[in-house]
Amino acid sequence: MAVRYVPIVGALLTLEQAQALVLAHAHALAAETVPLEDAAGRVTAEDARALVDLPPFASSAMDGFAVRAADLPATLPIVERIAAGRPAQRALEAGEVMAISTGGVVPTGADSVIPIEYVVQHDNSIEVLETVPLGAHVRRRGGDVATGDVVVSAGARLGPVQLGALAAAGVARGVCARRPRVAILATGGELARRGDPLELGQVYESNGLMLTAALAAVGADITALPVVADDGSAHRAALERGLAADVLVTSGGVSVGPHDLVRAIEAELGVEEVFWRVAIKPGKPVSFGVRGETLVFGLPGNPVSSLVGCELLVKPALRALQGQRDPLPRLESGVLASPLQRNDARDEFVRARSRLDQDGVVLEPLSGQESHMIVRAAAADAFVHVPRGDGELAAGSYVTWIRLGGD
Ligand code: AMP
Ligand code: MG
Repeated sequence: MAVRYVPIVGALLTLEQAQALVLAHAHALAAETVPLEDAAGRVTAEDARALVDLPPFASSAMDGFAVRAADLPATLPIVERIAAGRPAQRALEAGEVMAISTGGVVPTGADSVIPIEYVVQHDNSIEVLETVPLGAHVRRRGGDVATGDVVVSAGARLGPVQLGALAAAGVARGVCARRPRVAILATGGELARRGDPLELGQVYESNGLMLTAALAAVGADITALPVVADDGSAHRAALERGLAADVLVTSGGVSVGPHDLVRAIEAELGVEEVFWRVAIKPGKPVSFGVRGETLVFGLPGNPVSSLVGCELLVKPALRALQGQRDPLPRLESGVLASPLQRNDARDEFVRARSRLDQDGVVLEPLSGQESHMIVRAAAADAFVHVPRGDGELAAGSYVTWIRLGGD
């Protein structure tokens, strides 16, 4: 049976409308407990709190001598030597000093540390010619965080710094949303495998690999399905398999050509389409639907269109599935280096390179903005947002932009 889809003609959704619809369907997945060693890139489902004060004790910020500030200047006996992990056996009395290393416990009775550079050392005493401010070089217990205080709040992605903070605060496990299982399916009878010679009419499959890398960066657990040709039964089997995931992302086959089968077969398989086509350039033919709890994205085949749909719609959905705060792409601001023509019907995302100038970020649009030009796009680190409208954005205009390729 030939499967044909009759396109609905109508006004296109705006990007904002499309993103709102996606987020309305992307509910946070169940949380699980994850050892910190496995939690890099995961999103916290609840506030993670300190189990200890940090620092856990008053500690020395310098290699030097623990003193009572009021005793200085003076020549004073060294009564003990304190190392990191090896506290003093007794309290410091008036008129004494203890040698102390960075990270050592400041002994009871001491209130300050004088750095080694400021003293003249004799065998068992030091000569100090200056005073030190009270509390100098002493890291207060709990100065970074107190027991029970929030270290990382719910909805944050755990990067290196957050992991370091949790570990330092005594936390061994995080409570994080389950990683979304994502199936990626590239469609197209013209797609050749890496390493095979190209025959006339073929292009190398590239979207599957690109989308896998892009979605892995936002925490997806990915299955890349074998590529399918533009054939109904092959589509049916592969799509059904992909629909078992939390998110199915296809590439190709969502335009209006006779070989664009994805949406029609998804409809047969029970996918309810939420939208098809969005007023963006490139990426207009993107589709989004749901079947049960599964989110279904149909990205266009042109590689740059696929990339734009991924950044603007799929990555936000994956962030939201993990409960991440602010799942939409983060907009930055900058100044255009050269003018850009606006599109009267669609918001455009122009590939550009960002650089820092004395006035801030400057964006240089790249040549080669067609949606098949993935190699040109590979030189970009930014998508400049050109809002739909008349005329052009002049050189020097303030624009917003999205950094490419992050989490
Ligand atoms: P489609 O959206 O299926 O009409 O494809 C649009 C264009 O993108 C065609 O030129 C395809 O050859 C190309 N294309 C589709 N899928 C891929 C893919 N996975 N990798 C690279 N190019 C693709
Ligand atoms: Mg195709």
